[in-house]
Amino acid sequence: MAITTKTKRDFPLDRIRNIGIIAHIDAGKTTTTERILFYTGRTYKIGDIDEGTTTTDWMEQERERGITIVSAAITTFWTPKEGPFAGQETRVNIIDTPGHVDFTAEVERSLRVLDGGVIVLDSASGVQSQTETVWRQANKYKVPLIAFSNKMDVVGADFLATIKSARDRLGANALAYNLPIGKENDFTGIVDLLTKKAYIWPARNASSTSNASRSDADWQSDAGGEGDQTGALFHETEIPADMVDLVESQREKLVEEISGTDDVLMEKYIGGEEISVEELKKALRKAVINNEIVPVMAGSSLRNKGVQPMLDGVVEFLPSPQDLNEVIGENPRTGEQEIRKADPKEPLSALAFKIQVDPHVGKLTFLRVYSGTLKSGSYLYNSSKQIKERVGRLMLMHANDREEIEEAYAGEIVAAVGLKDTVTGNTTCDESSPIILESISFPEPVISLAIEPKTKSDQEKLGFALARLSEEDPTFRVKTDQDTGQTIISGMGELQLEILVDRMKREFKVEANVGQPQVAYKETITQTATGEGKYIRQTGGRGQYGHCFLRIEPLPRGQGREFVSEIVGGTIPREFIGPIEKGVIEKEDTGILAGYPVTDIKVAVYDGSFHDVDSSEMSFKIAGSLGLSDAAAKAQMVLLEPIMKVEVTTPEEFLGDIIADLSSKRAEIQSTEMRGNARVVLALVPLSEMGGYATAIRSMSQGRATYYMEADHYEEVPKNITEKIVAASGFTGRVEH
Ligand code: GDP
Repeated sequence: MAITTKTKRDFPLDRIRNIGIIAHIDAGKTTTTERILFYTGRTYKIGDIDEGTTTTDWMEQERERGITIVSAAITTFWTPKEGPFAGQETRVNIIDTPGHVDFTAEVERSLRVLDGGVIVLDSASGVQSQTETVWRQANKYKVPLIAFSNKMDVVGADFLATIKSARDRLGANALAYNLPIGKENDFTGIVDLLTKKAYIWPARNASSTSNASRSDADWQSDAGGEGDQTGALFHETEIPADMVDLVESQREKLVEEISGTDDVLMEKYIGGEEISVEELKKALRKAVINNEIVPVMAGSSLRNKGVQPMLDGVVEFLPSPQDLNEVIGENPRTGEQEIRKADPKEPLSALAFKIQVDPHVGKLTFLRVYSGTLKSGSYLYNSSKQIKERVGRLMLMHANDREEIEEAYAGEIVAAVGLKDTVTGNTTCDESSPIILESISFPEPVISLAIEPKTKSDQEKLGFALARLSEEDPTFRVKTDQDTGQTIISGMGELQLEILVDRMKREFKVEANVGQPQVAYKETITQTATGEGKYIRQTGGRGQYGHCFLRIEPLPRGQGREFVSEIVGGTIPREFIGPIEKGVIEKEDTGILAGYPVTDIKVAVYDGSFHDVDSSEMSFKIAGSLGLSDAAAKAQMVLLEPIMKVEVTTPEEFLGDIIADLSSKRAEIQSTEMRGNARVVLALVPLSEMGGYATAIRSMSQGRATYYMEADHYEEVPKNITEKIVAASGFTGRVEH
């Protein structure tokens, strides 16, 4: 990968788009992103690829290595041919959003920093559960969206039905922005409703191979060839005669809806006055930014059709950083709210949204600059951690090279090299104008598995790999089981852990045995209690003397842990309070009832004693740990388990079986509703009951029902089940003395 260096450049804010390609798995996110990278590639302009290497080769190599779009943010450039930005180069930063629900937290994180999104729908299957989830998340952050109805070439593709399903299932004001010409194998182009211009993409190599007999690989390779990044592969044509009426009626619908969002246009519309295309586009842009309309565009990424008009839509309708409200944060010194505008002259504020390890440059911290100017070689203040860090180099990551820049301005997304301690969610800013932007919250892991390295050298590699991987993914946690010495990793879902284990083996070459995924239970107390921790050994030589009294109280669900000292008058010297807390935390981590971490608990040390000579940090640490065990034994400990929100979509005929099966899994059925001609069941089900559900649901419904789940909250495990888990753990809530 080449690195080009660039000095100052002021890219106008209104020509920047920070977008995500959002889709559920298999809708075509990867293919669409690849096509965008191809069309927006600078390969031809820069001319930095080796003689004889075509872009196709490059794409294939990258795909083989699977690194085409793994960069957290890729900077591309697109120059629309028409519209208000015609002939002007726009910088489009594509922020990676994961497709699978296991990564919901990652999706949320990326949505935080992007300004707009392209939601990729599957024209043959319409809106599915996962699409709904990402859509809901996008709504939460008010991310303006345009939709790309992909796979128009697939048998059963139906553009207007896809729009209808988006309207019905998502409650979105989805409207056709263009219409497909033909469908399935005869999908050849689109008609733009506002301009009433038709475009077709001629079949390539059509003389030698018919469309029908071409393989996916043939279509993939078309993306290369003599492709032209400005999109010369398509040309304008006449609107097919049999589409004229449909174009008119759909245009009318679009114009009416756009007019409804703007008073001036509404008046014209009612008065029967002609509204110009410019006026309509301007109002549509405003409506998209205000989340009032989602324009839907037809295409087939695999067959290289419809992607360029969608890119024009990105530039025309999705907001620039300038179109958005200022960002709000808190001044950590005064606790007051402060506002930063997307202006390079304001004090700096930037959010670290992803840490990634690049094989060539090392650790990259991706930053979204919200205000001010970030300079390479400067010192940054990390207000979340109250530390100063030096930024080494700043880079824009392109699909096939990197560009070193000296400054990054408000509204831009940049990768910084050299930040050691800044982690995802931290704010960096000017030390003289500190601000903490709203941090990104991550859910607690619900599933874990044990890893045992095969050799001593694997053990070392494992430590290194896990440290790197957890830096990249904050929802992934690592700990060592005190009893077995095993390394336990935990995360948000089986797939996430599977991928991490796979990366550990492939990228870091760790040989290890991996256990079955286990539900991440937690322990908590249900009553207030007190306990005594006494660690006194006085047999010859220097003795040990640690002694404390602890009071423990339950905290509301989700509050975590608290530790306070109520020691007055020096009954325990101040320097031993810290060690007591350490001992308490160690015990909380190890677990008391069944070996799971203790949560939602407040621990107060309120009394104790010490010995002038024999007291030490170690003896108080042990006393703290013993004190907690003693108190916990009297506080009615219970286990908590993760409860999943489960959504099953099934044809009516299997509904009865599916509900009966869910009920046998301790499910709480929340609702069943109709969606199109399918039935959708929403339920809350303990994760421990969901093992093997993918197979079970397939056999229950002849493969026709689908499901999706995500972690919702933690709840008490019923007594009889708790007893079994405790018995199996070998812990039996033992109390040590
Ligand atoms: P992702 O999981 O959303 O990233 O989806 P991919 O881009 O990997 O696509 C999933 C599958 O659908 C792959 O086999 C693609 O080749 C195929 N695919 C993607 N776009 C299209 C399309 O426009 N038409 C057809 N026929 N297949 C497509």
